[in-house]
Order: sequence, then structure tokens, then C-alpha cells
Amino acid sequence: MRVVRGYKTELDLNDEQRTACLKHAGVSRFVYNWGLARSKVAYRNTGKRPTAIDLHKELNKLKRTDFPWMYETSKCAPQEALRDLDKAYKNFFRRVELKKQGQWRGKLGFPKMKKKSKAIGSFRLTGSIKVFSHAVQLPRLGRVRLHEHEFIPVDAKVLSATVSEQAGRWFVSIQVEEEQEKPPPTATTAIGVDLGIKTLASCSDGKSFANPRALKHAQKRLRRLERQKSRRQKGSKNRKKTCRTLAKQHTRVANIRRDAAHKLTSYLSKNHALVAIEDLHVTGMLKNHKLAQAVSDSNFGEIRRQLDYKTSWYGVHLVVIDRFYPSSKTCSACGWIDEDQNLSDRVFVCEDCGSVLDRDENAARNILHEALRTTGSFSESHAYGQSSAGLVSGSGATALVEVGTNLH
Ligand SMILES: [Zn+2]
Repeated sequence: MRVVRGYKTELDLNDEQRTACLKHAGVSRFVYNWGLARSKVAYRNTGKRPTAIDLHKELNKLKRTDFPWMYETSKCAPQEALRDLDKAYKNFFRRVELKKQGQWRGKLGFPKMKKKSKAIGSFRLTGSIKVFSHAVQLPRLGRVRLHEHEFIPVDAKVLSATVSEQAGRWFVSIQVEEEQEKPPPTATTAIGVDLGIKTLASCSDGKSFANPRALKHAQKRLRRLERQKSRRQKGSKNRKKTCRTLAKQHTRVANIRRDAAHKLTSYLSKNHALVAIEDLHVTGMLKNHKLAQAVSDSNFGEIRRQLDYKTSWYGVHLVVIDRFYPSSKTCSACGWIDEDQNLSDRVFVCEDCGSVLDRDENAARNILHEALRTTGSFSESHAYGQSSAGLVSGSGATALVEVGTNLH
């Protein structure tokens, strides 16, 4: 299976290269905003939006007379910025359609002007890009050193390179097309996962992943920095300094979250033939003010996104259970339902068969049962009692994997 994936790593820039990167990011931002303004005017006058190609032609004419400074940068930067704008418009219209059908609850997200004060941003380069073990060669920027060695595969087919800035550090993401070898189907186990706030994930095999709660732990420091920022004068150097520290702290939070999500999703998709999760209604949970911060700190949306692509990479069958399935109320051993269960009960005690189990692990086992039942890989009676193992026979697992790939 050929897949397109990105390898993102930090750049080790010299001063000249840093200036060049800033210029490219500036051009990219300028062209995006210019294209957006042009599109708005054109739409008002004619009811139609110019395509990325139209805009690029117009820009090329203006370049000579109005924007000669653009010649200092690669011609890819403006071209790709206009492509991004086109994509932003298309995504907006797609969401408008979904909203009409009642399938979209979030914001429609009309393309916005990019502000330098918000972020330096990024730019994308295409054309002759070469990857070495210690460096990458990019158009106009030349050979740029990398902090991490031998991370990007040297012989892969490179499609593009995106350079971006984050809290004072510069990164490159090399987009490559490569052959993703499906590992031989050695994994024959099925696993159910209960995602939560206290414990990020509890698995039906008894393994659990702690929630780092990065935002919660950084909260005190972030609040202090926010206060410091608001006390400092707008436009002053000290305010800028605080802004930079603040941005670093936010990046740290995001990194911790992403790391936890990757560890979890890799464990699930590399070691199992079937992964069962609950369909969480994240947007709904975010509307609940008491839950919102804890939920966004848990990164459920990102976990789901990573599971989607990783399970398809490794040929794992991902089963999503209906969100109204009473996974935490049901006894995973006998099927008894505890109607008056309290959210604060950390342990599930069955009044019918007497089994005692951690609440989340019980839920994870139920999610697995339900997945096996709905996919028809196990009869219900068979599933109960076999709870901890949840083993799929060898031939069964291969059949499942095939179904899985069709579904993705
Ligand atoms: Zn029971």
C-alpha cells in the first residue's frame, strides 16, 4: 500500500537561513492575504471566486511592478500559499454543505487573514528537494542542517517540504510517498479501549495509559505569564519577551499531549488485529463548561485522528461503538446492568455474579464485547466469560483485517 506521510523535524538554521525563512514565511502570508482580499472583491462583483491559477497569473503580472521584493524568495512560496487559500475555501464550502444537511455542528470557518502578530507561520516548497542523513537541501535556502539525524528516509520519494516556526524554533516537514509494508498478521488479539479524563485510556487487557493533563499542570505558570503580559505596555520589548515565554509554554503543553496520544495509538494499532473504541461526542462535551478544559486537555479528537490513519497503515480493524451503548453500567462478565450507578464509583461491583473490577477496565471489556458482537466475530454468549482474553483465532483475524481495509 502506498501512503503519503510527513516527517517533521527541527532545523538547525544559521543567521542567513533564518532571515531567508522569515522572508519566505512573510511572502507566503502576504500572498495568502492578498489572494483572500482579491477573492472577496471578485465574489462581491461577479458572484464568482477566482481559482488559484487565476490568482497566480494575476500575481505574476503584479510581481514585476508592485512586488519586486518577491523575487528574493522561491516562486513556490506564493504558489503554494494560493493553493492553501483554495483549500481553505473548499473546506469552508464543504462545511456549509454539511451544515445544510444538519451534519455539522461546529463553526464554518471562513478563511481568515493571517496575522504576523499571531504567528510567523509557514511556507511550502516543491521541486528539487534532497534529503541527507544530517541535512535537507531546499530550493533557495540551500543545504540546511537538521537537529535530529537519520530521521527522514533518504531514498523516499519527496513530494514537498513545509517549513514552519513554533515559539522561536523552526521545523521542516518533508512529505513523502512511500510503500507502507503491511506487517504480517501476527497480531491476533482484539482490544477494547475506554477513553477517559482521569486515566487517558483503560484497555480490556488491563493495561492503562495515564493522562498527563499537561494544561492543568501548566495552568499556574500560564496564568502568571498572562498577568505579566497584561501588565506590560503594548508594543514594548518586555511584553514581547513575555509573549515568547508564553508561546513556549503553550508549545510544551501541546507537545506533551501529542506525545501521549502517539504512545497510546501506536500501542493499540501495532499490537492488535482489532481495536474497539467508543464514539465520543467531543464537540458536545466541550460545550459543558465543567468538562471542557479536561476534555480538550485529553486530546480525544487527536487520538481518534491518529487511530484512523495508524489502523489503516497496519491493517487493523477499527470498530467504533455507538456512543449510547451503556459500557460503564454493564457487567462485563455476565451482562447485568447497574441502573443506579454513580459516576464517582471507581469500582464496578456486580450484584448478579459478584465480580469486582475497575470501572474503566470493565467498560473497556464491554466495548470489546460490543465490537465483537456487531462485527459478528463472536457470538454474545461466547464473548462473555472470555472477557479478559478476547482472542480472535488466526484465520478470523485475517478476515477481519480485510474487512477493515475496505472500510477505511
Ligand atoms: Zn456480573
